[in-house]
Amino acid sequence: MSTKTPQAIRGTQDIFGVDAEAFAFVVETFERVRKLYRFRRIEMPVFEKTEVFSRSIGETTDVVSKEMYSFLDRGDESLTLRPEFTAGIARAFITNGWQQHAPLKVATHGPLFRYERPQKGRYRQFHQLDAEIIGAAEPQADVELLVMADQLLKELGIADGVTLMLNTLGDGTSREAWRAALVDYFRAVKGELSEDSQERLEKNPLRILDSKDPRDKVFVGDAPKIDDYLSAEAQDFFGKVTSGLDAAGVAWTRAPSLVRGLDYYRHTAFEFVTDRLGAQGTVLGGGRYDGLMESLGGPPTPAVGWAAGIERLAMLVGDAGCAIADQLEAAVLVENDSGLESAIRLLSQLRATGISGEIIASGSPKKRYDKAVKLNPQAILRVNETGYYGYSMDGNNDRLLAFLKTLP
Ligand code: ATP
Ligand code: MG
Repeated sequence: MSTKTPQAIRGTQDIFGVDAEAFAFVVETFERVRKLYRFRRIEMPVFEKTEVFSRSIGETTDVVSKEMYSFLDRGDESLTLRPEFTAGIARAFITNGWQQHAPLKVATHGPLFRYERPQKGRYRQFHQLDAEIIGAAEPQADVELLVMADQLLKELGIADGVTLMLNTLGDGTSREAWRAALVDYFRAVKGELSEDSQERLEKNPLRILDSKDPRDKVFVGDAPKIDDYLSAEAQDFFGKVTSGLDAAGVAWTRAPSLVRGLDYYRHTAFEFVTDRLGAQGTVLGGGRYDGLMESLGGPPTPAVGWAAGIERLAMLVGDAGCAIADQLEAAVLVENDSGLESAIRLLSQLRATGISGEIIASGSPKKRYDKAVKLNPQAILRVNETGYYGYSMDGNNDRLLAFLKTLP
């Protein structure tokens, strides 16, 4: 047996301290905001049959071609740790017959897995918030999701310095025409593109626009724009999205080269980006994926959604210097061991009343007092062998005072 200490898996994180508090703050804020918008909570499996992802996300995407954690289980079935939520939610929509609930507004959050090169803001196990509206064809659904994302960022206190970049990929016809123009354009400079993009050229040229390789980036600015290929219908759809955003007071910037990394997007595509996280500047991204259900063999079902990286949001929250940790309300100081049971009783009453409490019951009497002070509580409640006998208080806490009045 090896005596070496096992190491954590590369690209995983053990989150603790202020980072963990910021993480929890992001999740709690999301839970509050999604309820305001009446999104229902769903819980999804962490793994699915591999085809759920390969058929929907697309074989030529980075996620499917090189980032998935796929393995054969003991029954020789190919399974994959989820690299994103949307495909699994679409699968669930079909297998559970959730059509009856359409339009269905759902939200979830949890871990995702991608085999990537770990760096700041990029991990192999990371976490996302996710919101989807399934079975809604109207631009109003896109607007609702974007307004919700915007409110989330505001409530997290990080909206300053985060910009909504918005684009449309048009409907199927517009997208095809644009695609053909992109192939022509990039073919002329093929030799100068990255190896990856040379390969993408015929299969999925839109994704060259999404490349992070500087060799590709130089050609992106002058590439054909979707606007020249938009059908009247697609133009009208996009116009309704932008006028809805304006009505809701959501600021946006047009980003004519913005495409999303995954194959299934149509019409609206967007990212909320910041320059405060270096290369990992996209905190939230999404769009409309009207073709996804069909790629999984389901009925045609228009849908739109977004996902946000919890770690990246939490890093921004940290930057903004948010007051994260709540102050302790009551420290119960057990002055000697025969007071222990009274202290335990008192503490459970406190917490049942909704007041936070900690017990200090070890060390010398002097040490115990010092420990209590160090916790910086609003009140120190003293307990000895005769039971609770008094408190000292720093600051205002009406709830705590009302509770203390009930004590003998
Ligand atoms: P990127 O371009 O940064 O690789 P992506 O387009 O692959 O992002 P999506 O699949 O759209 O990302 O995921 C939505 C969000 O999830 C991203 O905007 C980001 O905040 C977060 N995210 C994606 N991959 C990772 C990762 N490996 N580690 C941490 N967060 C991630
Ligand atoms: Mg990626």
